[in-house]
Amino acid sequence: MKSVLITGGAGFIGSHLCEFLLEKGFKVIAMDNVVTGDIRNIGHLRGNANFQYINHDVSRHISINDDLDFVLHFASPASPIDYQKIPIQTLKAGSLGTHNTIGLALAKKAKYLLASTSEVYGDPLVNPQPETYWGNVNPTGIRACYDESKRFSEALTMAYHRIHGLDTKIVRIFNTFGPKMRKEDGRVVPNFINQALKNAPITVYGSGNQTRSFCYVSDLIEGIYRLMASPLNEPVNIGNPEEHTILEFAELIKKLAKSKSKIAFKPLPQDDPHVRCPDITKAKKELKWQPKVELREGLMKTIKWFMKGN
Ligand code: UDP
Repeated sequence: MKSVLITGGAGFIGSHLCEFLLEKGFKVIAMDNVVTGDIRNIGHLRGNANFQYINHDVSRHISINDDLDFVLHFASPASPIDYQKIPIQTLKAGSLGTHNTIGLALAKKAKYLLASTSEVYGDPLVNPQPETYWGNVNPTGIRACYDESKRFSEALTMAYHRIHGLDTKIVRIFNTFGPKMRKEDGRVVPNFINQALKNAPITVYGSGNQTRSFCYVSDLIEGIYRLMASPLNEPVNIGNPEEHTILEFAELIKKLAKSKSKIAFKPLPQDDPHVRCPDITKAKKELKWQPKVELREGLMKTIKWFMKGN
């Protein structure tokens, strides 16, 4: 039986990974300090003999007695509202947390997978973004705590690969949505769905002409699983290349939720990327992966989940 440590295991993506890898027959240790995660995301797994939860802050030394085959480092605030509230913890999760989890992977002779982000491309001047694009990041702006800590974590991961032969994987995750997103995390999907369900104004920042591309969480998890099994050591984009303006997205959610909400335009936050869309040529070729879930289908599942009052 393979064993895996998932940091950020009580978070949105981390908890989906715990569930998925348990079903695949892994022994799973989830680590989280529940600063932005939620223990309820993994509550249903806690009776499973192959599952263990450890409350721990990854920026402190990590000690695990069991053998590990994989270390997956997913711990970090990921919503702009969250990471701008706690920028220092975010920088520590990406820097010290990456150093600690890499050290653990080396000691256990485990494979290491880093959860990186499309934010490494900043406000991109190339659209869609291939892995070879170096990005356009403000190093001292309000998003820097996330962007730069993830860029640092990629650099650290590659340095350990080159110097110590660590078997590394780096997934650059683009906008992902689905059940278990925190209702109040401030990101566009939870905001728009909550607002639409209450018939409250849907808050579109700026003109709404900025674009994003939304991947349903089950597609992302399948991509990560394929990456774990692949020999690729360098970054791979995983996301859905169907690009929409935020205004289109607001209208779609309003329609699917059968909402009477009006659109309310609000100021565009500083350094908000104008466009974002993954070039997934590499994932298609190397992992034989591409997203399957249609945006509408994924949104309906997510709306239903939010309606249940989660
Ligand atoms: N956004 C919006 N209204 C909201 C929340 C977000 O118009 O209530 C916009 C935000 O300005 C950005 C996009 O939606 O252009 C995606 O924002 P999110 O916070 O989900 O994450 P990002 O992709 O910027 O990291």
